[in-house]
Amino acid sequence: MHRRITDKLVIATHNPGKLAEMRELLAPYGIEAVSAGELGLSEPDETGSDFRSNAAIKAIAAAQAARLPAFADDSGIVVDALDGAPGIYSARWAGPSKDFNAAMAQIERLLQERGATTPDKRRAHFVSALCVAWPDDHLEQVEARVDGTLVWPPRGTAGFGYDPMFLPDGHNRTFGEMESIEKHGLPPLGLGLSHRARAFVKLAEICLEPR
Ligand code: IMP
Repeated sequence: MHRRITDKLVIATHNPGKLAEMRELLAPYGIEAVSAGELGLSEPDETGSDFRSNAAIKAIAAAQAARLPAFADDSGIVVDALDGAPGIYSARWAGPSKDFNAAMAQIERLLQERGATTPDKRRAHFVSALCVAWPDDHLEQVEARVDGTLVWPPRGTAGFGYDPMFLPDGHNRTFGEMESIEKHGLPPLGLGLSHRARAFVKLAEICLEPR
């Protein structure tokens, strides 16, 4: 049996980019969202071996600490020619200073080393695993992806992380060149394009009711 989210929810992220996106996604449902950072919750170690288990680790830790339902995302970019790297290590590739220009340059250097110069050899996808955990250990989990190719040099200054390098299939602008409503806004306002928007639609179907 799926469980509905009713009024108050902790967003278990310390990433300002993700926090802003999640708040926008939750807004139409009248859910009061408070962030893990605002509650002073610490970040658990992401010791899972896939996106799904890391999302659960973050949601469970926040639900237990706050005694409230908690919503977490684990996401990253999976590059085919790099055997799936950086994958669950996408945030770590940017180092402690969160330098995503350096992380994108590292991906590009490895792609060049492997001779991945044409779009067909530069396939990648973003993955988002979402988990809502309740203090009584009930979990709801969904996962979605968006496919595309990697461009170089990076284009655009919108978004965060690897957005400027990612060209979603069927579009000629990178996520870094798109307005946030285009990247992750839900229909009818947006296209529901991003991995997080797509996963959120799945989650909304089972856990949320529009107000
Ligand atoms: P984590 O889920 O907090 O472990 O971090 C995921 C990392 O993947 C982020 O820090 C970004 O580097 C990257 N990432 C996830 N989603 C996006 C996105 O929508 N755009 C760009 N980068 C993303």
